Amino acid sequence: MKEILGGKGANLAEMRTLGINVPPGFTISTEACRLYYEEGKKINAEVKKQADVKLAELEKKMGKKLGDANDPLLVSVRSGAAASMPGMMDTILNLGLNDKSIIGLAEKTGNARFAWDSYRRLIQMFGDVVMEVEHSEFEHILETVKDTKGAKFDTDLTAEDLKEIVTQYKAIIKKVKGVDFPQDPIKQMYMAVNAVFNSWNNYRAIRYREINNIKGLIGTAINIQAMVFGNLGDDSGTGVCFTRNPSTGEAKFYGEYLMNAQGEDVVAGIRTPLAVSALEKQNPKIYKELVTVCNKVEKHYKDMQDMEFTIQQGKLYILQARSGKRTAAAAVRIAVDMVKEKAITLETAILRIDPNQLNQLLHKQLDPISVNKAEVITQGLPASPGAAVGEIVFTAVEASEKAKKGLDVILVRTETSPEDIDGMHCSKGILTARGGMTSHAAVVARGMGTCCVAGCSDIIIDEKAKTLTIKTKGITLKSGDSISLDGSTGKVYEGKLNTQDPELSGYFGTLMSWSDKFRKIGVRTNADTPHDAEVAKKFGAEGIGLCRTEHMFFEGERIKAVREMILASDLEARKKALAKIYPYQKGDFAGLFRVMEGNAVTIRLLDAPLHEFLPKEKKDIEELSKEMGVDVKTLNAKIEDLHEFNPMLGHRGCRLAITYPEIYDMQAEAIIDAAIEVTKGVGGKKVKGVVPEIMIPIIATTKEFTILKNRIVEIVDRKIKASKLKITYKIGTMIEVPRAALIADKIVEAGAEFFSFGTNDLTQMGVGLSRDDAGKFLKEYVAQDIFANDPFEVLDQEGVGELIRIAIKKGRGIKKDLKIGICGEHGGEPKTVEFCHREGFTYVSCSPFRVPIARLAAAQAVVREKAKAKK
Ligand code: PEP
Ligand code: MG
Repeated sequence: MKEILGGKGANLAEMRTLGINVPPGFTISTEACRLYYEEGKKINAEVKKQADVKLAELEKKMGKKLGDANDPLLVSVRSGAAASMPGMMDTILNLGLNDKSIIGLAEKTGNARFAWDSYRRLIQMFGDVVMEVEHSEFEHILETVKDTKGAKFDTDLTAEDLKEIVTQYKAIIKKVKGVDFPQDPIKQMYMAVNAVFNSWNNYRAIRYREINNIKGLIGTAINIQAMVFGNLGDDSGTGVCFTRNPSTGEAKFYGEYLMNAQGEDVVAGIRTPLAVSALEKQNPKIYKELVTVCNKVEKHYKDMQDMEFTIQQGKLYILQARSGKRTAAAAVRIAVDMVKEKAITLETAILRIDPNQLNQLLHKQLDPISVNKAEVITQGLPASPGAAVGEIVFTAVEASEKAKKGLDVILVRTETSPEDIDGMHCSKGILTARGGMTSHAAVVARGMGTCCVAGCSDIIIDEKAKTLTIKTKGITLKSGDSISLDGSTGKVYEGKLNTQDPELSGYFGTLMSWSDKFRKIGVRTNADTPHDAEVAKKFGAEGIGLCRTEHMFFEGERIKAVREMILASDLEARKKALAKIYPYQKGDFAGLFRVMEGNAVTIRLLDAPLHEFLPKEKKDIEELSKEMGVDVKTLNAKIEDLHEFNPMLGHRGCRLAITYPEIYDMQAEAIIDAAIEVTKGVGGKKVKGVVPEIMIPIIATTKEFTILKNRIVEIVDRKIKASKLKITYKIGTMIEVPRAALIADKIVEAGAEFFSFGTNDLTQMGVGLSRDDAGKFLKEYVAQDIFANDPFEVLDQEGVGELIRIAIKKGRGIKKDLKIGICGEHGGEPKTVEFCHREGFTYVSCSPFRVPIARLAAAQAVVREKAKAKK
């Protein structure tokens, strides 16, 4: 019905069939709009004939004639397409008023001020929308009359003042257009119909459809309805209500109203509206009727409704009902309550919540009241959700020092690098000037659950002077000044805003358990520390899909040993340094195995290029030279030697181990020794069923995989044999290089037991976009619809997805039960989760705070698939 009558028309018709008192009227279909355009912007003759008949019926029902001189029927002409396009098309109210019927209306209502105000509004709207006289011409007249009469608000104008405005309005139309404001009510109505049809193709409506991907509609419908007025005296009023509380979801009628007022008065804020509960005392009969109607409409639509009502001289009219917008907390509570009330099915409840909205529930948020009062000083990318409030610091060292003193700090950097890890860890939030959604800062912050605003190109950081300048505002802040970040919107505020804690209420838990019943795909997490793993487990992670071991190399003392390994002049020296790193690694792995209690733990061997572990700044290089007893010249030579022009395509991942195999040897030893110790219960609790999954990154060729796998197998098997335990393990590969996707069958033949798609690199190399630089221009690509979304956020299913499909087909062609996962940033993105479900993935893996989003998205994928199969 919506396709033909538009959303509003269908809704009104449906409410009428429910016996709800909506102002009588009729709808001209979207089909008529199509004909209008086909016939050269003319109202089709048959359409006009039918509209004339319907108008006559409406007049009969109302016992009044449109624009009658003694007791006029007034109508509204409103647009309404099948898809909601709020405010994009035109509407005209009070049609039917002219120089004669205004007198009749004033007399009939006994309210001359009301009548003249209605006429003034009609001429203003009609003049602007239909006759295309600049809106400002009318505003100018209104303001001038208000000034000369000393009126502060429109409501201070008398009937006489409004009469004068009407005269001036008519004169300006005549002056600008050379014609009079039409006095014939029928002519007014059809001119309005023409204008609304034209508004279907105005610039903003076309852009709105483009932006919101609204396609395949034939035009707008038009609703012509008898006007009802809430400003006819103290027995009239108007209001907005929700059938449940839109911010908490509580099943309690909620809303606001004003007596003797029009809809726009409620919104304009001149008078303070009353809570709808006050209506119960003021007019119990109407209140009871309103509650009954609201319950009926909610029951019918099976969802919380946002409704507009008007009381005209003691009679209640419903002007509009639609599904109400709500917060995440309300969405979850309403869905769960409605299942319990048997109003909706479990499937409907699961589909009703936007998985991304759950983000609101999982993190600390800025308090909306203090946000309203605060000023946004700049905006970057919403890289990691949540809120952060604290003092600005410019270096990781300063962050650590101040955090140790108990201060809340926000680390502000041009971009972060792995050596900032400690400082990032103890900061409440991170703000960077460069980098996109998969920049180092963004990825690490999301993993830690720390709020991050990245790529804020509006700021200039002077690390030396310890200042941060906001270019567009010309504001300079210094170290110690406070700012507040909103990682969900990318907005930055000056000063300290209040925050509120996340509420993982019982409703949320219920929704999650329902999701788990439906979903078929596993949900793991990307976690590098036992703490992150613990957080993810609380959110429902069923294992670790990616542990990035390089992140373990930076903390505290271990970075020294790592640097010693890099600077070692020969194999012996390198092995000596690696032996120092080994106990740290073993301890980390054991911690992860213990947290995950026998669930899968996938450990990726070292991926980062070695230069990332060496300092860049002169001061830091000098410090390191002293610390390590290596002269600055040698140190600089090594840094120079490791420098790469394209590090992302350089000496990283398995390529490191092809040249320095002893690095992976040490890691393999640490993994299996940790598994043995945890199985035996050495140094902590005993865990059953530990199955390490050892993952090799950046594989491009079968030979790389074979060489490295053979070394790992030799070490691991030898250790297991010596332990006399029955421990199983798996060796698999990441699929990040397009070449690996294309030869996936051969990689399985070479012994890969699982694949994990590293879609960050697969996107980088598959689309040829630099992860660190593309943020600068991708926004424009999305704006021009070259990409529907940023391909580093939402998987490019057409291109990168095809590489994945090829790899799965080839891999499973050799090993039917090959485990397949995804661990790029896309693993927690709802559309990508649905793709993974469809393509038969075993699991998705994402940062801890996205685990609930993935669980819900995975359930939705199943529900949608079933619904599609039924059709
Ligand atoms: C990837 O490339 O998708 C991945 C998970 O690895 P990283 O982001 O560490 O390169
Ligand atoms: Mg990668």
